[in-house]
Amino acid sequence: MDKIVSLSRRRGFVFPSSEIYGGLGSTYDYGHYGVLLKNNIRSLWFEAMVQERDDIVALDSAIILNPKVWEASGHVSGFTDPLIDCRTCKLRFRADQLEQSHCGRKPSKHPGEWKECDLTEARQFNLMFQTQVGALEDESSTAYLRPETAQGIFINFKNVLQLARRKPPFGIAQIGKSFRNEITPGNFLFRVREFEQMEMEYFVPPAEAERWYRYWIDERFNWYVKYGVRESQLRKREHSAEERSHYSSGTTDIEYLYPIGWSELEGVANRGDFDLKQHTEHSGTKLEFVGDDGERYTPYVIEPAVSIERIFVAMLVDAYDEEVVADRDRTVLRLHPAIAPVKAAILPLIPRNGDMVEKARGLYDELRKRHIVEYDDGGQIGRRYRRQDEIGTPFAFTIDDHTLDDDTVTVRDRDSLAQERLPIGAVRAWLEEALERPWRTPKA
Ligand code: ATP
Repeated sequence: MDKIVSLSRRRGFVFPSSEIYGGLGSTYDYGHYGVLLKNNIRSLWFEAMVQERDDIVALDSAIILNPKVWEASGHVSGFTDPLIDCRTCKLRFRADQLEQSHCGRKPSKHPGEWKECDLTEARQFNLMFQTQVGALEDESSTAYLRPETAQGIFINFKNVLQLARRKPPFGIAQIGKSFRNEITPGNFLFRVREFEQMEMEYFVPPAEAERWYRYWIDERFNWYVKYGVRESQLRKREHSAEERSHYSSGTTDIEYLYPIGWSELEGVANRGDFDLKQHTEHSGTKLEFVGDDGERYTPYVIEPAVSIERIFVAMLVDAYDEEVVADRDRTVLRLHPAIAPVKAAILPLIPRNGDMVEKARGLYDELRKRHIVEYDDGGQIGRRYRRQDEIGTPFAFTIDDHTLDDDTVTVRDRDSLAQERLPIGAVRAWLEEALERPWRTPKA
């Protein structure tokens, strides 16, 4: 994980937030390549979940909702983690994670293992951030930053059912920020207090719930494989009855082998009719499906839920590679071309040569209309290749002496380092075809 954090920092993917003020625990800002990588993850999720389907529509609900939403959903009373304080070192721990926590004394042990440790009883700590709406700071104006995007979907069930003229099975997908006041955040972006969730609620006739639950586990698993994550580093883990939320009749985590061990990347849950029934009861608005023939029922909900942050870390970890090429170390991000922040680099071999620069800039201007590409004329060609390798750019087009004679360029492949020559006029079509090709990582 240290190598990923350091590369992210060095190449401007991710910065610790508020750094000039000493930072804010587990909060990060994204630099240029981080933004591009996040955009790709977001749009490929949207493509698979909405654009390529007839049965799912999009939604963008507010972050601050009527606080009654969170009473109905059970978050006000139950969205808690058990918290323990140490009166000696003043640190806080999750009572259910003492084995994975480290106490403040050196050498570090688990909380409670030093004789000086003075732990409080566990108490329930609500993870929702509170805020005030309006100018009056009385209780009636207390509101919450949403801890998940799902509830914004449930409360819009009726709107979508009517206006999008849908009938089960159909889904509503949403991408947006969620906030949780995690007690023990950490492990880089894996557990942060502010993250971007991508959730889809799929409403189905109750008798079909089990089938769709299995379907969505497979669909989501295969999405990761399609975008190059090694299957050996992914697994499905079904929750036991004790681990599941009380309303869930099935939950499966898609786990990734992060440097911290197998951990939840994405969760897929069969939430039954719990959410729609709760909101029906608390709001007085019937959230159910009524068919043309008078058939009436509350649909069950299957939910795949993930954050961009957990995908971001998994993809960087999976792509990170080091090798020695011609006696020199090379760090390379072997990202799927569709995920890579920059699709191609355009490099004039000799930056002082005006003709090469002109040709290179011409090609850059042509490609940038359609793709995120980068022009680089700073320093030796070898160093420029290395810089692109580190940010995972799959292809580099080099303009050299031959280009001036015969209008061909060299294309270099990030993974195999193979080079071939192409007519400059064919580069755009070649790149588009290359970005569409199925890709498998050469990493073992
Ligand atoms: P965990 O057990 O790891 O706290 P969770 O089971 O509470 O996660 P869910 O409530 O199921 O998580 O949230 C759905 C998804 O949102 C998770 O699978 C994960 O991808 C993402 N997620 C949840 N909490 C965080 C967080 N603090 N930082 C980054 N991503 C998160």
